[in-house]
Amino acid sequence: MNKELDEPIFLVETAFSQFDNDCACPDKGLGLTIEPLKPESAYSSNFLVNFDKSKYSLREDVFCQTKQTHVQKINEKFYLLMSPYTSNGPCVVTHKGFDRWKAFEEPLPLEKELDFLFLEQGLLHAKNNKIKTNRQTPETLEAWIHVTNACNLDCPYCYVRKSSARMSVETGERTIESIFHTATKHGFKNVKLKYAGGEATLHFALVKRLHNLAQQLADTHGIGLREVVLSNGVRIKEDDAIWLKQHDVKLMVSLDGIGEVHDQQRPFLGGQGSFRFVEKTIDEVLLPNEIFPDITITITALNAWHIAEVVEWCLKRELPVSLNFFRENLLTKNRQELELEEKSIIEGMLAAYDVFKRYLPERPFLNGLLDRVQTEPHAHTCGVNFSYLVFTHEGHLTQCQMHLDDHFEIPAEQRDLLPIMQQGPIQNVDVEEKEGCKTCEFRYRCSGGCPLETFRATGRWDVKSPHCYIYKTLYPEALKLEGLRLLKVHGLMT
Ligand code: SF4
Ligand code: SF4
Repeated sequence: MNKELDEPIFLVETAFSQFDNDCACPDKGLGLTIEPLKPESAYSSNFLVNFDKSKYSLREDVFCQTKQTHVQKINEKFYLLMSPYTSNGPCVVTHKGFDRWKAFEEPLPLEKELDFLFLEQGLLHAKNNKIKTNRQTPETLEAWIHVTNACNLDCPYCYVRKSSARMSVETGERTIESIFHTATKHGFKNVKLKYAGGEATLHFALVKRLHNLAQQLADTHGIGLREVVLSNGVRIKEDDAIWLKQHDVKLMVSLDGIGEVHDQQRPFLGGQGSFRFVEKTIDEVLLPNEIFPDITITITALNAWHIAEVVEWCLKRELPVSLNFFRENLLTKNRQELELEEKSIIEGMLAAYDVFKRYLPERPFLNGLLDRVQTEPHAHTCGVNFSYLVFTHEGHLTQCQMHLDDHFEIPAEQRDLLPIMQQGPIQNVDVEEKEGCKTCEFRYRCSGGCPLETFRATGRWDVKSPHCYIYKTLYPEALKLEGLRLLKVHGLMT
């Protein structure tokens, strides 16, 4: 890499971490075929050093810029480019690199090493051969396991109709077995279990027991296992935290603000605020044991102006952050107070992005910056109907954790659960079939937003998200942060 900038420089991130939140983002669901390029080796960061043109078999002569590529200047020296058809994040190039890409406004043959990188990132395509997308089964089957219906908090936006009921050992074990049966039948490479509720840590004994069974089945079937406990973080015992770490089970903690801001959105049943309890858990139990939970922040009209403060609190502690929008549901209290309002959301999020810019963590953080918008290309916003199963505490099945009341019993003889799921009311439409999304430059990152949210707002499943304007306004800003992060990681910040 030439740091003098007299030669083009090309930077791109190829590995993005997923942040845990309530939903299920599908992985590897969308394949991209960039014909006629036949690379024998995937892109690597030292591509320019090891470049070998003979490794590529090109069957066409001239190439053009890919339409709907996102372009922005990130500072005086660098531009950011992102094709809808990349499998990776955005690319950062120097002026010289940008000028070379601009030259392909007219069809040209590939000559320089950089041209091949542009092709590989979907920024160019053969004049007579568009880049193709193909749908493939995601690699990970994800399951929400509702271990208890009880919770010690009373959050106004919660979608769980609470009770003291909890999942029995027998139901839990039957659930884990049916998840692995479904995974093996459909050829999933990984299973991801989310222990949720209610407050999952109130039934920690069951979590531990189900983990043991899941690990045993994963080993037997040669399936990868990832697990996460979703928690309000109010009372996590040190022994339980250490158990999580020892068994490689992740933790996600909800935190909506600092002090009163958090307290008004996440009070105890009696109305008392819960912030100082969560703070104590993180500072006195988790961090001293080197446990870094994913922090999920739910953004409503009430806390929109204060997101920057809580983001700073997290970044100071090097905690991964995921910013998620409130979704109205039938159980929402004080609906009007919480309803998202575009101006305050955008301004609050931009203030939070400024905090990211100041701290600029070197590990990838793009996937946590904007609700369900994810870097890995995908055609469906979440895994509903394809790679996601939600189990109630009674072991019944439903399509989404926000639809717990709308569950169906699993017939005794039925062990493959995906066909049952697909009979539910939620339609998870391909982004290419959503009105308003088909030509959007961000379509394979946003996928048109949460299906339930869109249906609630519009009565249709096949149209763009009601938050489209927010996504289109904020995603370029989020991408710019990724561009700046790449420059920092490669020692190119001025
Ligand atoms: S909802 Fe808007 S930003 Fe998202 S894919 Fe559709 S048009 Fe693009
Ligand atoms: S339907 Fe919406 S809330 Fe449910 S899993 Fe999908 S994105 Fe999440």
